[in-house]
Amino acid sequence: MNDELAKLKQLQDLYLERWKILSAQGTLGDDIAHRAQLLKKTEAYEKMLSEQIDAARLKSKSMELDLQKNEEKRKTSEERVTTAKNIAQLEALQKEIDTAKSEGSKLESDLIKLYSGIENLEKKKKEIDEKRVFLEHHQKNAEKELESITAQQKLKLKQLEQIIEAKRKNIDEKMLEYFDKKSQNGKVAVVVPADGQKCTNCNRIIPLQDYINLKAGKGIVECPFCDSLLYIDYVKKDN
Ligand SMILES: [Zn+2]
Repeated sequence: MNDELAKLKQLQDLYLERWKILSAQGTLGDDIAHRAQLLKKTEAYEKMLSEQIDAARLKSKSMELDLQKNEEKRKTSEERVTTAKNIAQLEALQKEIDTAKSEGSKLESDLIKLYSGIENLEKKKKEIDEKRVFLEHHQKNAEKELESITAQQKLKLKQLEQIIEAKRKNIDEKMLEYFDKKSQNGKVAVVVPADGQKCTNCNRIIPLQDYINLKAGKGIVECPFCDSLLYIDYVKKDN
């Protein structure tokens, strides 16, 4: 490989390593941000369920009281039956008893419905509780992981930056300019191996003369289609 190209390839490998570290941190950071949003939603839902349960419980208490009053009223009417002085009084009392009975059974069935509603809400709340605990657990782990990555990799990044800085000083300025622009500051490979007569970046066949120059190690061969700088990977493949 041409000396200048070899230096550029080394620089590229350093940049790609640096980029790998940065993007691993980024992915973990994205996960954490996403989970934080999910947690917020889960907590809001939980709060809403709690409020619904509280309101339903309050309502059931007042209905239980109504039912108790209704029963007392019916009992009083039933007791008064023996003291009725005439048919009209008896009929009036009987009507009171019937009304109390039908109101009571309506209250009872409403109360049963309310109880089962509360039970469903509580079941749902329990599920959401478990989901939140699960999310919190994962969030804590991800945060810990990010912290340890950050500590270890900070040092590694600093070292890489220093090596990159030193390597850059030995590379032709025009080549550097080209590399920075084409590689998007080290994110994309610019120096790529040829696979026979094929550019492995764009997978197109380079012109024969370029291939001959490449094999002869004459100067720097650029892919005419994607502008990648080509080299022959003798270690990996016998071209
Ligand atoms: Zn190409």
